[in-house]
Amino acid sequence: MKIAMNQGTTLENSTLELDLQLLEKYGYDFIEIRSIDKLKEYLETHSINELVEFFQTHHLKPLSLNALVYFNNRTEEEYKALLEEYKEMLEYAKILNIARIVVVPLVSEKKILRSIIKQSCVEVLTELSDLAKPYGVKLALEFIGHPHATVNTLSFANEIVAEVDRENVGIVFDTYQYYAMNSTLEDLKNTDFSKVFLFHINDVEDYMPGIMLDEDRVYPGDGVIDLDSILTIVKEKGFSDHASIEVFRPEYYQLDAEAVVKTAKEKTLKVLAPHFLTEEVK
Ligand code: ZN
Repeated sequence: MKIAMNQGTTLENSTLELDLQLLEKYGYDFIEIRSIDKLKEYLETHSINELVEFFQTHHLKPLSLNALVYFNNRTEEEYKALLEEYKEMLEYAKILNIARIVVVPLVSEKKILRSIIKQSCVEVLTELSDLAKPYGVKLALEFIGHPHATVNTLSFANEIVAEVDRENVGIVFDTYQYYAMNSTLEDLKNTDFSKVFLFHINDVEDYMPGIMLDEDRVYPGDGVIDLDSILTIVKEKGFSDHASIEVFRPEYYQLDAEAVVKTAKEKTLKVLAPHFLTEEVK
């Protein structure tokens, strides 16, 4: 199992340039790059070629671009703007040799019928899939474990991806998103793991599902998610590609990014160790 970090983890106390240095220093294999802010900020003072060169000359590699946000059930005008952003992401993915783009469903307080959500998701993902094909890029749908997210359970994400039925369209399985809206181990057992393109690992404080937020996430092993049972299933399903640490905790943003990067890896390895071989515990 390779180890990755999503840049959300050091969102407010680091930069892409610093994340690259720290993740390399602490022996991470992958970084999930935030195209929506961190890459843009980096490109204000660096060229894209510097980033290409970094990845060519270091162990650390890019795992994904994050994220195309609120892709479904948009107005015509919003969708047009979304496609422009998406095309730019595809170009970056090509230059940087990134194989996955995360796509995030609409979050809205507006009530939308399930059938209307599904129809839009399937239509949009099919179009995005066509556009991604020449780039060799895969799309990973991340269900968001919040009542207002239009796709907020593992089973609904699986259902949509099965309906799209494209080789380059799959899901993100994020342990927080899974827990936050009561997805179940049964749902995980029913998941087609050939469609799990990204695995986000984290934990959360003991709030009731439905009210917890991203900021309540904690390092793996420090919260109440049954990671042990989840990892048992992940292993049984034959998934052993990577685990990507993703927390968004304001408390951690108060620390030095280096301390967060170091602790995140130690805690994650400890949780993974009973189930997976990692570089450190071979
Ligand atoms: Zn995630």
